[in-house]
Amino acid sequence: MELPAGTVVELRPGKWQLRPGSVGDVIHHVRVVKVHESLTTGWMWVYAHDVTCAWPEADCAVPWCLEFLASEVALRAAVDGGR
Ligand SMILES: [Zn+2]
Repeated sequence: MELPAGTVVELRPGKWQLRPGSVGDVIHHVRVVKVHESLTTGWMWVYAHDVTCAWPEADCAVPWCLEFLASEVALRAAVDGGR
């Protein structure tokens, strides 16, 4: 699936993983840089900045500061919600 750069995604507990098997238990709001297929069906690697991150204006000098697995369903909902 395609996820335009800059899409803001709300990641609810259980909808993202720091790494396979490590399910997140807090809500994250992130701004997507790019997404990548993962080896786990239904999950995609996401490279993003936190919405509170100052990128690209200031402090955050890296291309992305967050890397995690996200539920494809949650990502799709974010795309649809942005239309
Ligand atoms: Zn950042």
